[in-house]
Amino acid sequence: MKIGINSKHIRVYGIVQGVGFRPFIYRLAKKYNLKGWVLNTSSSVEIEVEGEEDSIKAFINDIQTKKPPLARIERIETEDIHFNNFEDFIIKESKEDSGYQLISPDIAVCSDCLRELFDPNDRRYRYPFINCTNCGPRFTIIEDIPYDRKNTTMKKFKMCRDCEEEYNNPMDRRFHAQPNACPVCGPEVWLEGIEICDPVKETARLLMDGYIVAIKSLGGFHLSCDATSDKTVRILRERKRRGYKPFAIMMENVETVKNYCYLTPEEEMALTSPQAPIVLLKIKNLKDISKEVAPNNNYLGVMLPYTPLHHLLLSEISFPLVMTSGNLSEEPICQENEEALRRLEGIADYFLLNNRDIYSRYDDSVLFLIEDKPQITRRARGYAPSPIKLPLNTVETLSCGGELKNTFCLTKDRYAFVSQHIGDLENMETLEHFTDTLELYKRLFRIEPEVIACDVHPDYLSTRYALQFEGKLPVVRVQHHYAHIVSCMAENSVIDPVIGIALDGSGYGLDGAVWGGEILIADYSGFERKAHLEYLPMPGGEIAIKKPYRLAIGYLYSLFKDIPELPFLKDISKEEIEIIKKQIDKNINTPLTSSMGRLFDAVSSMLNICKESSYEGQPAIELEMAGKDFETDEYYRWEMDTRDSIFIIRVKSIFEDIIEEIGRVPDSLISAKFHNTIAMMIMSIGVLLREETKINRIVLSGGCFQNRRLLRRTISLLREKQFQVMTHHYIPCNDGGISLGQAIVGGRRDS
Ligand code: ZN
Ligand code: ZN
Ligand code: FE
Repeated sequence: MKIGINSKHIRVYGIVQGVGFRPFIYRLAKKYNLKGWVLNTSSSVEIEVEGEEDSIKAFINDIQTKKPPLARIERIETEDIHFNNFEDFIIKESKEDSGYQLISPDIAVCSDCLRELFDPNDRRYRYPFINCTNCGPRFTIIEDIPYDRKNTTMKKFKMCRDCEEEYNNPMDRRFHAQPNACPVCGPEVWLEGIEICDPVKETARLLMDGYIVAIKSLGGFHLSCDATSDKTVRILRERKRRGYKPFAIMMENVETVKNYCYLTPEEEMALTSPQAPIVLLKIKNLKDISKEVAPNNNYLGVMLPYTPLHHLLLSEISFPLVMTSGNLSEEPICQENEEALRRLEGIADYFLLNNRDIYSRYDDSVLFLIEDKPQITRRARGYAPSPIKLPLNTVETLSCGGELKNTFCLTKDRYAFVSQHIGDLENMETLEHFTDTLELYKRLFRIEPEVIACDVHPDYLSTRYALQFEGKLPVVRVQHHYAHIVSCMAENSVIDPVIGIALDGSGYGLDGAVWGGEILIADYSGFERKAHLEYLPMPGGEIAIKKPYRLAIGYLYSLFKDIPELPFLKDISKEEIEIIKKQIDKNINTPLTSSMGRLFDAVSSMLNICKESSYEGQPAIELEMAGKDFETDEYYRWEMDTRDSIFIIRVKSIFEDIIEEIGRVPDSLISAKFHNTIAMMIMSIGVLLREETKINRIVLSGGCFQNRRLLRRTISLLREKQFQVMTHHYIPCNDGGISLGQAIVGGRRDS
C-alpha cells in the first residue's frame, strides 16, 4: 500500500434509496478524486473507495453533512480493506440481499422541478407529473422492494429516449428517479367525459363556476371547491354528509396564507417543508373565505400546493380551494378512478382523473405547533412509513391499534413502523384498507409478526382482527391509556418510570368502566392507576357522546340530585329529562365513565356551546374556541379523596362554580377558567405523586391534548414546578398513536 493512500468499505443505512443517494456519492467521489464503486443492496448502500486518507475522511464527513434533502442516515459502518487499484469510480448494478430498507415517504414537488414546470422552453412545461430524485411519489407507488421502477406502479409506462437518457446518467438530477416521466411517455390527466385539450385549465374554470371537482392527487382523491362560496361549501357539506367538521384549505403561497392567518416562522417552515402537511393556523381575518369552511373554529387547516398538478391549478385561480379527502364521511379516501367514479358519484360534479396508479392510500397529514414544535395529529403523507426509533428491543410484533383514527404498528429490530392514518375502523371499506396496508408493510419491511397486540376493548374491529391469531401466536391485550402513555414515552426515548397523564375520550377500563381521565405510574413493564376523575353516568352510552346534553343532565343529576334550572335545558323535552333520570336510577344502558373528554362535553353542552356533536371532539373543540384569546389565572374549585390508595378527583364544585357564573360572565372567561382548572388539577396531582414516588418526569398523552389551550397551560404549570414534561411530536396524542404503545408493551424484550 502506498503511503497516505487508504481504502475503505462503507455501508450506509437509513432512507438512502430513491432519494438520489448514489449520484450524490458518485459526485462526491469525483470531487475528492476517489476511485471505487457504489451500489444499492436491499438493506443499505455499499461503497468502496480508494484515495488519499484525508480525502476519504472528508468524503465520509460530507456523506453525513451534505446528504440529499430526502435522505435520512441511520448509521454508517466503515471498514479498512485491501487495496484494489480501481481505475475509476462507477455506479454498480443493484444487489439483493435478505435485508430490508427504509422507504421514503412521498414528498412535495421541489423548486427545480417547479422551475421547469413553468418554463415554456422546457420539455415538461405544464406537465402535471414532473418529478426528480429529490421529489415526487415514493411510498404510494411502491409494491415491493428493492425500490426499482419494475416494483412500482410506474412499470406500465415505458420511458421514451429522452427520459431513459436522464434515468441512466449519473450526473442528471433524474438518475434512477423511478417515477421519471414526460408528456411523451408518462401518465396523463383528463376530465372524465369531457374532450378538451387542457383539462387542468378547464378544471380551474369549473371550480371558478362553483362546481365540486374530485381530483386524483398523490395518495387518493380530494374533493375540491371554491372556499369563498358559502353556497358551494354548503352543498359539499350536504353531499358529503359532513356536519360541522372543518375542511382543509389549499392556498397558492405563503403570502396568501398570511392574508388570512397568523404565521410564525416555525409554522411557515412546517407549511413549506417537503412533507407539506396541513398546518392548523390561527385565523387573522377570514375575509372572503366562507364561514362554512371551519364553523365555530378559530383555526384553519391550511396546506400549500404539493403536486405539480396543484401548482398548475392554483396558478389559474385567485381564491383558496377547499381540499378535503374524497370520501363520504367515515369511509376511507378513494384511491382509484373506477372506485372514485362509483363512490363519489353524486358528491362531485366533475372528475379530474389520471392513469398513474396509487398503490397505497395516503391521506394528508395534519399538525399544529406548540412551543414552536410540531405536534402531529394525523400522520400520513410525508411522514409514514418512516419508522420511529425505539429505546428498547422488540420481537417482530404487530399491534392493531384502536377503533377511531386507527393505525397499526409493526416492529423490527429497533424500528417501529407506524402505518399511515387508516381511519375509523367502523366499516368494511376501512377494514379492507387496514388489511391491504398491513400486507404491504409486512412485505416492504420483511416482517413476520411473532406477537400480536391489541386493545382490551372486545368490540373494536382491530381487537377482533387480532383475536383471529389466538392459539397460533401470543396475543397481548394492552389497556388503552397505558398504550397512550407508552407511545409518548417511546417517541421521547424514555426508559425510566413516569407519571403518565392520559386525558382522553373513551377507552376500555380494566374494571369495565369507560376510562379517560387517568393518571398512571408507568414503565414498559406495567402501570399502576394512581388517580382518576370520579365515575359519572353516560345515560344511553354512545348516544350520550353524540348528544352531550345527555351527559350534562346525567352529571348534574348524579352530582346534585335536583337538576338546576339552566338555559341549555330550555329546548329539551321534560320527557327526555325524565327518561335520562330513569336510565340513571335504574342503571339502564348507562355506563360509568372517568373520561376527561366527556367532562369537556358536559361543560360545553351545559354552557349551550355545543349540545349535539356532529364529529368526534366537537363539543370540546368548541369549548376551547369559546375561550378565544382570553387569558386569566383564575380557576374553579375541585376536591380530591382517596379510595384504596387511589386519588379520586371530585368535580361537583367545578359545576357549582360554573352554574354560579352562567349568564353573569362571558363564556370566554368560563372556558378559560375551566381549562385552567384541569391544568391545575394535573399539576397538583403531579406534585402529590412526585412526593410519593420521587418520579419527576411527566408524560402527557390522550386526545384531549389536541386542545392547545389545555396543553399550553398544563406544560407551563408543570414547568413552574420543575417537572420534566414530555409531549408528543411525531406520533399523534390521539388514538392514532396507541398502536405504537401496544406494540412495545406486546413485543418488548428485556435485554
Ligand atoms: Zn424535483
Ligand atoms: Zn419521456
Ligand atoms: Fe384514546
